[in-house]
Amino acid sequence: ATLYAQQLIDPLDRFLMWTDELQVGAASMARLLGVANVPDDREATPARPSGELLEASDVRYAYRPGRDVLHGVSLTIQPGERLAMVGPSGAGKSTLGRLLAGIHGPRTGSVAVGGVPLVDLPLDDLRGHVALVTQEHHVFKGSVRDNLLIARPDASDQAVLKALEAVDALDWVLGLPSGLEAEVGSGGIAVSPAQAQQLALARLVLADPHTLVLDEATSLIDPRAARHLERSLAAVLEGRTVIAIAHRLYTAHDADRVAVVEDGRITELGPHEELVEEGGSYAALWSSWHGTPTTTPS
Ligand code: ATP
Repeated sequence: ATLYAQQLIDPLDRFLMWTDELQVGAASMARLLGVANVPDDREATPARPSGELLEASDVRYAYRPGRDVLHGVSLTIQPGERLAMVGPSGAGKSTLGRLLAGIHGPRTGSVAVGGVPLVDLPLDDLRGHVALVTQEHHVFKGSVRDNLLIARPDASDQAVLKALEAVDALDWVLGLPSGLEAEVGSGGIAVSPAQAQQLALARLVLADPHTLVLDEATSLIDPRAARHLERSLAAVLEGRTVIAIAHRLYTAHDADRVAVVEDGRITELGPHEELVEEGGSYAALWSSWHGTPTTTPS
């Protein structure tokens, strides 16, 4: 059976979605329980997004029943756009990022790519449209090759090597005792956090998503490794739509638009200069980070 994004959703989220569905009525319930004789068109012919426009419409989301952390967020991201999300800690940026990447499904509202809700996309299809990049990456027990093929099981060795090269990881991988066959993950050869991040980035290159949601971490990696990784990351971002949850101001300054998230809502949205001129939360944040509202980062 095809694995759907919906099946990735954490159990509580799924429960909330179910209860939403159940409220729709007995027909939906029968369908959910599999007792109605309703053909599942979705299974037969998965919907195909037309284009890469990513659109969140009136999205609400709760980790716990009755405690929404997103209160009706609408946001349209154009193909090729670079959008930065900024805002206070706990405002909901990471949550929104995970929804835009199809990791969680909204409680109500929708997140769709090319008109198709992410939760309706088979996982293999979803991965080609949008993916989340964080610094919490897992090296799975298995060979280096296995670790990359998770992204695209049918990828050739040539494609795997090219992906490793793109993220600057080819040299150290080929330097391992058995190269692509080297066993990593628990019980295998230890890889550094930076190397693990590179394997995760190489996986992304293989999956080749149109859009990346980048949850920039306050780094776990030492500064020298971080500078090296910047280059790997830049190579992966090249040519893609990027939604960056910005913890560093230059990310926001360089973006096409900035979305300010406060208390589960988008309160300001526009290009950096416009928001600075408006003199709202972003302008205040900018001046607190950079001295005066008109200063540009060096
Ligand atoms: P930060 O900048 O600190 O990362 P953020 O803007 O990304 O914050 P989120 O991490 O999205 O904010 O958190 C939004 C709200 O949801 C917060 O109140 C947070 O405590 C809550 N929250 C986040 N993750 C979970 C979770 N897994 N379970 C329950 N509540 C959560």
